[in-house]
Amino acid sequence: MVWRELKTKSVLSCIWRALTVSLLCLCFPQVSCLTYAQDSTKLDSTAKPEQQLYEFTFIDAQQQTQTIQATQVLEAQDGGVVMLTRDGRLLTATPEQLKHKKQLGQPFTPLTHEELEQQLKSEFGPDFTITHTKHFTICSQAGKRYSKWCSYLFERLYNVLHNYWNSKEQPLHDPEVPLIAVIFKDRANFEQYASQILGAGTSATHGFYSIQSNRMVLYDLTAAPNERPAFTDADILRKLRKSPFNMATIIHECTHQIAFNIGLHTRFADNPLWLTEGMATYFETPDLRSKTGWRTVGKPNPWRLTQFQNYARSRRPADSLQTLIASDERFQNAETVLDTYAEAWAFSYFLIKTKRRLYEEYLHRIAARKPLIWSTPEERLKEFRSVFGADLRRLDQQFLKYMRQISR
Ligand SMILES: [Zn+2]
Repeated sequence: MVWRELKTKSVLSCIWRALTVSLLCLCFPQVSCLTYAQDSTKLDSTAKPEQQLYEFTFIDAQQQTQTIQATQVLEAQDGGVVMLTRDGRLLTATPEQLKHKKQLGQPFTPLTHEELEQQLKSEFGPDFTITHTKHFTICSQAGKRYSKWCSYLFERLYNVLHNYWNSKEQPLHDPEVPLIAVIFKDRANFEQYASQILGAGTSATHGFYSIQSNRMVLYDLTAAPNERPAFTDADILRKLRKSPFNMATIIHECTHQIAFNIGLHTRFADNPLWLTEGMATYFETPDLRSKTGWRTVGKPNPWRLTQFQNYARSRRPADSLQTLIASDERFQNAETVLDTYAEAWAFSYFLIKTKRRLYEEYLHRIAARKPLIWSTPEERLKEFRSVFGADLRRLDQQFLKYMRQISR
């Protein structure tokens, strides 16, 4: 992760607020309180590309004193800090919370497998087993077979995404911290854990990726009360086929996690939700039959397509594209959220299929944004137009025409 020099006009208290609230890529609304304010708070502009390891002692939100090793992502003029821990979490401390800070005279490195294993075991207890794959660390309470099946799926998706977006012009990078997946053995255990993080939002979700912790949290979708566990891969597939939408959640959240760690998106930057959710929904159609590839990449997403067609036919306002691009508001409204996800998928699908070069240019331009600088709706539109052209009405006509020709 390259944290560059930061200069922001945002009010610092807003930064603390936004970062303290769990930043979840939700499929939930993103915290978006950081709008431009007139009074600027200058941030330290001396952040160096080479990340140094520090020891921080601070009082956390629960009034507990914590001492951790982390690198400093940014330091505000008032002395507050944003820290990146060696297991990939982003933490904050206001000047009042921060008690001590010391440079340790060595570069920041992620936790080793052994260190991470020890940490996760003490956090989750003896019920969980820790395994490592090339890019992921799986902390699982589910059976061995399911955990292995998931790790295989994650790595497969990693390769698919990497191959799909990597290019000479815009090379992707490897994750700079371990990609942690926590898998609970059943829905009840997942809900108990997730409710501490998501609060009331847990009931509708089958998994989530947290931008703040950088973790993906899931549960064994094949586990059901009064049913025997899945003993073989074929068992797992048979059970998952009964609930393809749940399965899509795994792919969706894993896509977020990978995309935020290989350079497609930047954590804590202003990422338009239509872009990040469009990316996740573009890949979310599971390809359960294929063991070696992902033949469904680039095929229409049947659920999102049906929803979008219905929306376009009966209730899509003339300024739908404009509001989708300008703000995340429609994702935050229960009445519009499903249509908005469908439109984010459809619009991303249209752009990737018909204007891929421009889509990639826009994607990388957004990924190059500096963290914690939030754009206004006007700025979002301006940036979009600077890549795709000024005439949104014409683009909207092309988009709708294209989508009318798509069938499941
Ligand atoms: Zn999502």
